Amino acid sequence: MTTKDLDIATHLVHSGERGDLPKGKPTTTPIYAAATYDSMDEIDKVFAGEAPDYIYTRYANPTVAAFQQVMLTIEGGATACAYGSGMAALHAALFACELSPAAVVLASQDLYGATTNLLLSIFGAFGVKSVFADFSNVDDVRAKVSEAKPRVLIAETISNPLLKVCDIDGVAEIAHDAGARLIIDNTFASPYLCQPLQHGADMVVHSATKFLSGHADAMGGVVISRDEFDSAALVGVLKLVGGVLSPWEAHEILRGVKTLGVRMDRHCENARVLAANLRNDQRVGRVYFPEFVEDAQSEVVGRMLRDRQFGALVAIELKNNTREAAFAFMDALKLCVRSTSLGDVFTSVLHPATASHRDLSPARRRELGISDGVIRISVGIESADDIIADIGQALSLSDSATETQRHGAAT
Ligand code: PLP
Repeated sequence: MTTKDLDIATHLVHSGERGDLPKGKPTTTPIYAAATYDSMDEIDKVFAGEAPDYIYTRYANPTVAAFQQVMLTIEGGATACAYGSGMAALHAALFACELSPAAVVLASQDLYGATTNLLLSIFGAFGVKSVFADFSNVDDVRAKVSEAKPRVLIAETISNPLLKVCDIDGVAEIAHDAGARLIIDNTFASPYLCQPLQHGADMVVHSATKFLSGHADAMGGVVISRDEFDSAALVGVLKLVGGVLSPWEAHEILRGVKTLGVRMDRHCENARVLAANLRNDQRVGRVYFPEFVEDAQSEVVGRMLRDRQFGALVAIELKNNTREAAFAFMDALKLCVRSTSLGDVFTSVLHPATASHRDLSPARRRELGISDGVIRISVGIESADDIIADIGQALSLSDSATETQRHGAAT
């Protein structure tokens, strides 16, 4: 049968496909949108585990592999595995630690809310117990490790929303002395500011949805391990649970990664300028920013983060420390975006008490210092003057709106 004998229905399916690859090499990784690969010889060898190659995109994909490779290189690990979201990556990292019923995880009290819920609801349902500690306080971590005998410790490089920096060297030493493994979620710092494996962590996780992608248009996650041994479990979760990173998203994230360095330089500089400005603003009760920590902690910040860079997040507590004032402030913003994410090129704000930390009881939020007037700002790469002007006018409007309300209530 020649192609000319084929029916139009057959041409529609096959024509143009599986042609020769171009002789010139593409200068960037193409989007390999193929779910399947046609080679009996290869499929047989790959299924037999005798050759690394591509047979099915749930198992591996060349565009996703390019993203994994860059993460492996910049975090300095032995194996990297990408997933469809940061949560899928966190699940895989915890799963790879072989947590059996009654095993204990010592988790940071300041973890992203969904990570805490993952531990309590999903791993908790299988009998894994979670205990919490303040990971910005090495003594608290040491005491809880000796009491709870955890198998895994998990924390974030920079905590959410109050931006406490974890002493990864110190915590890794405590974990390893106790025979436990340390997982660090490095999403807030990005690998440009900190590489947790170089400070003793065993696995690093990123929500690639944030700084790695950087443009609010892709979701993904990745785990990088210092130990090649973890590869089987990390890939096993991909194959069996199936939360794979799509090649389309991998391409977007890969493109974002190329500008991570220049974006982070600008994010961090803008954040410093904004934090300094807000510190002198009478309408702001408190500014949380890693540059402003006390002396003992500033040594840790200097050791963990890139020289004189303190991250792209600034949190403020309004002097009028109420939910009404926070909402009035956020509603009044004209340039900055109200967003449930962070790490994007534009400046975005979030109200932790009703968003990232809404599942915590008001009492627990108070214990953690997350009051109703706290707002988290992810500082973008716009002009710092424009960001400051927008936040300044929103603070004024918030002040006058809440003043009017107070006045109205009194009359
Ligand atoms: N880790 C941190 C620190 C986060 O802030 C988030 C999301 O906000 C996640 C993990 C989860 O990432 P994703 O939304 O990509 O699942």
